Amino acid sequence: MNVRLPRRPRRLISTTAVAATTVLGLTALSACSSSSAADGKNDGKLDVVASFYPMQYLAERIGGDHVDVTNLTEPGQEPHDLEVSAQQRGQIEESDVALYLKGLQPAVDDAISQSGIGTKVDAASLTSLEKHGSEVGGHAEEHDHDHDHGDENGSDPHIWLDPVKYAEVAEGVGKALQKADPDHAADYKKNTAAVVKDLDALNTAFEDGLKDTDSKVFITTHAAFGYLAERYGLTEEAISGLDPESEPSAARVKDLQKMAKADGVTTVFYETLVSDKTAKTLAGDAHLKTDVLDPIEGITGKSKGDDYIQVMKSNLAALQKALGAK
Ligand SMILES: [Zn+2]
Repeated sequence: MNVRLPRRPRRLISTTAVAATTVLGLTALSACSSSSAADGKNDGKLDVVASFYPMQYLAERIGGDHVDVTNLTEPGQEPHDLEVSAQQRGQIEESDVALYLKGLQPAVDDAISQSGIGTKVDAASLTSLEKHGSEVGGHAEEHDHDHDHGDENGSDPHIWLDPVKYAEVAEGVGKALQKADPDHAADYKKNTAAVVKDLDALNTAFEDGLKDTDSKVFITTHAAFGYLAERYGLTEEAISGLDPESEPSAARVKDLQKMAKADGVTTVFYETLVSDKTAKTLAGDAHLKTDVLDPIEGITGKSKGDDYIQVMKSNLAALQKALGAK
């Protein structure tokens, strides 16, 4: 496995220059019969553009040495509602494969659908999406959480936080890479099996670790853990909605404090990429602890682990502590 840090934007030159590079690349490619015809860099690798970290992680693990992965979301940047620059549009256009999650980043969805890129892989189409409301005071949608996920039916896009759904996505990504680059199909198949095995082990660790706990309820800043909660029989109460930028109402905060008392909640979780202000205010008023539960929308120096699996293990430990696992 070849772990790369998300790269800086590859080209800082004008569109004319990019076009020239592409033409040169194609000329060179036609002479060496590479499998990735759209590859502007002529290094024989499949260029994969990933919309945000969980897509990058799968592309890198499954693609291994055969792919060059570019992440559209910079490390530390909050991926929800990412704007796509003209330069990034060029980058998408030059890639062989786009791996994204429809419904999370509307601007990315538009840029990819408008691009002429050969292989477009929508992670949301590789598993099943659900709607997630919140238990206290009805559905999240009713709390005036005016998030714009570009998804008309309000489905929750945070599928990667359920290792079982994420493994389904991995299987689909593996198949797409095999199809896009048949010369290396055997490796993509092998790498897919390896990542699925790791995700199965992670699922077992969560099942075992959260089976017997004092409480089943946890409070998070944004509603990222609906699938995870459902998978392991827990209840997530989010301070804000599906989008971390939305502000909770005073009534919502009051409801949460009441609920925390009733359900034996010990901890309010906050995350690494957004402000912990609201979480700390809520926790302070209700005499609760705070801790990190990471939605893994990006990996930075502050992340509790270097990759998806490691941060998920930190999340499990944090949940076990907060819920009083036996
Ligand atoms: Zn999110």
